[in-house]
Order: sequence, then C-alpha cells, then structure tokens
Amino acid sequence: MQHPTPTSQETLFLSPSDVAAMVRGQGMSATLQGMAACIEQDFLRWSHFDKSARLASHSADGVIELMPIADAGHYSFKYVNGHPKNTAQGLPTVMAFGVLADVATGMPMLLSEMTLATALRTAATSALAARALARPESRVMALIGNGAQSEFQALAFHHLLGIQEIRLYDTDAAASAKLMRNLQANPDSAGLRLRACASPLEAVRGADIVTTATADKTNAAIIRAGMLSAGTHLNAVGGDCPGKTEIHPEVLAAAKVFVEYEPQTRVEGDVQQMPPDFSVTELWQVLAGHAAGRDSAAQVTVFDSVGFALEDFSALRYLYAQARSLGLGQRLPLIPRLDDPKDLYQLVRPAFSHATGQLNASAPARPVAEPVAG
Ligand code: NAD
Repeated sequence: MQHPTPTSQETLFLSPSDVAAMVRGQGMSATLQGMAACIEQDFLRWSHFDKSARLASHSADGVIELMPIADAGHYSFKYVNGHPKNTAQGLPTVMAFGVLADVATGMPMLLSEMTLATALRTAATSALAARALARPESRVMALIGNGAQSEFQALAFHHLLGIQEIRLYDTDAAASAKLMRNLQANPDSAGLRLRACASPLEAVRGADIVTTATADKTNAAIIRAGMLSAGTHLNAVGGDCPGKTEIHPEVLAAAKVFVEYEPQTRVEGDVQQMPPDFSVTELWQVLAGHAAGRDSAAQVTVFDSVGFALEDFSALRYLYAQARSLGLGQRLPLIPRLDDPKDLYQLVRPAFSHATGQLNASAPARPVAEPVAG
C-alpha cells in the first residue's frame, strides 16, 4: 500500500459509522489482513520511526493516554482511555480517536474515530505476533475476557491463524453469551467451534493459544503456574497499565516473553512485575529475522501486549487510504482557510461597510470554510 499524501487543505473525518461501513464493505477478514499487513510493514521499518512511550495520566478508576509517533513523512497520535468500571455506566472501557498529519506542513490529514479501529488493530497485532510465535499447527484458543475486544480477537485468530475452536470464559456470563451470540450464525466465523467454559482452567487446559483480554485495575493472576500446557502461546492483551496485570510472575519467569516497545512495556505490561533485567525480546526483531521466536515446540511464549503507537500509525494510514479509495468520510473544516495565510485576523475582523460608514456586526468577514461534504 502507498503511503498517504495530503491532497488538499482539508482534514478527512471518519466517524465510527464510516469505519464500520468500511469493515462491512470490504469484509472483516480483508480488513484484519490489510491492517496486519500495514502493521507488519511498519514494524519492519522500526528504525524509521521517532518512538516514545505513551504519556499516561492516571486516576483512581482509569487512565487517559496520548500516543505519538512519526516517521519522515507522517505524524500520528491517538487519545485513548482505559476505565474498567465504565461499562456499568453505559460507556466502553476503551474509547479512542486519532490524528494522522503531514510532517512537511503539519497539516492534519485525518481525524478518525479509533474505538473500533483500536479493537481491529489490537486483534491484527495479536494475530501477527502469534503467527511469528505460536506453534504453526495451533488450532484451539482459550479466550478469557469476553468484552469489547473479544470478537475481534476471535475473528483475527480464526482468519489469520486458522484457529478452529475457541473456549470462552468471563466472570460476567452475559459477556460470554454476547460473544457467543455475535459469533454464532455469522458468516465471518463459519467453521469456528465455540465452547463456553465454567473456569479459566477449563478454558485453558490443552489450548494451543491463550488470549487474555480482561479489564480490572488490579494485579490479577488469571493465568497461574501449572495451568498452561507445554508449547502454549499466551497472547496477554489486558495487562496494560501500572497496577493492572493478568499473568502470575511465575508464568512469565518460565516463558520466553516478547514485547512491542520495551521502554513502555517495562512500565505497563505484565513484565512490570519482573526485575528490570528480566529478558524480553521486541517483536519487530523476530519479524525482521534478527531474533528467534520460540526456541522449541515445548516452550511457552508470551506476547505481553500493551498497544504501541506504531500500530495506531499503521491503522490510521490504512484507514486513510481505504476511506479515500472507497469515498468514505467527511471533509472537516478543522483548519481555517485564509486568502492570505498571514491574515488570521480576517476570521474575526468586524465587517465594515464603506457605503454606510457603519460596522455590520451580523455579517461575517468571509465564509470560514466550505460546507462539510456528505
Ligand atoms: P471490556 O470491559 O469490554 O471487557 C473486559 C471483560 O473482562 C469484561 O467482560 C469483564 O467481565 C472481564 N473480566 C474482568 N475480570 C476478569 C477475570 N478475572 N476473569 C475473566 N474475565 C474478567 O474491555 P475491552 O475493551 O474488551 O478490553 C479488554 C482489556 O484489553 C482491557 O484491559 C483493555 O485495557 C485492554 N486493551 C489492550 C489493548 C492492547 O493493545 N494491548 C488494546 C485494547 C484494549
């Protein structure tokens, strides 16, 4: 896919319904494949990016984070929160939006919803990591935590990895019932067997891959020593904030652990529980062939995912390119259009009539922007 180039002084706006229309139009499988391809391309350009750990603002019940990154051509940031108690108030745990901008001018090219896009890019990243780290013959996955991310994780592993059976577990039975409903009688999950389980142990026993996507601001130990079979790949998605983990330290100590961006994951990932010299490998090193993935079929591998800005950069450039080719979105007059770019005052200059010698307060100096196109 070509890198996006801005064509005008306008910002493209993508709402949740625009991104949903894109997914429906091109299909879930193609969307996840397309996003995973962009993420992989960008991981392989690791040294081209100006990277930093995200800036997190913590509060009693959650966190709000800013995730910036740039290469020579484009800059992006995502605003995202994590508030596990939100669902009791009718709000998602994770809500997000993002911006893609042109580095040469600073012009924001895209303002997009990223609540849905985060679920897509997280699932695509999880599948990309598992393709590099799990045993290739993996067919059975346990999925613990059946909330907003879960369908996307299930479908990514079904389409990108060939997972044929998913065992579901959530402390909230209604969440598992919702996941079951969404995936049953769904052409996207044709051929996928689903089994509800009464405990994490029942779900995990004998699974080739275990995905944890729970939300609880606590040091949980959902996966404990002795639960995983030899050779399991653990895709740990929900431990992504200081004081919010899912995996017992003994499981990490006995496994080979892979991370997105080490400086960020040391603080936010499940490895926050481990000593600072605990060995981790960045995923890009494996994708680029600089480091080995699993060392043997019996080794337990862990992808300690927290979500890295590069994945959002990839998701935004994918959304921008697809939206422009499909004609989706609206032109947003976010930045003023000026006849003379040094004359910003023209936007607020009182209209003066030379004919009457009067100020005409009701008339704007000039139209601020073109109407937003549908
Ligand atoms: P959600 O609130 O919609 O769903 C979380 C589910 O976990 C809920 O159904 C809840 O009942 C369940 N749960 C909580 N504690 C549990 C336990 N001990 N055992 C089993 N189930 C339990 O949240 P979501 O949007 O699906 O996000 C899930 C997690 O993934 C969150 O922690 C979020 O911060 C994280 N996340 C990570 C990334 C990443 O890139 N790594 C991206 C998005 C979300």
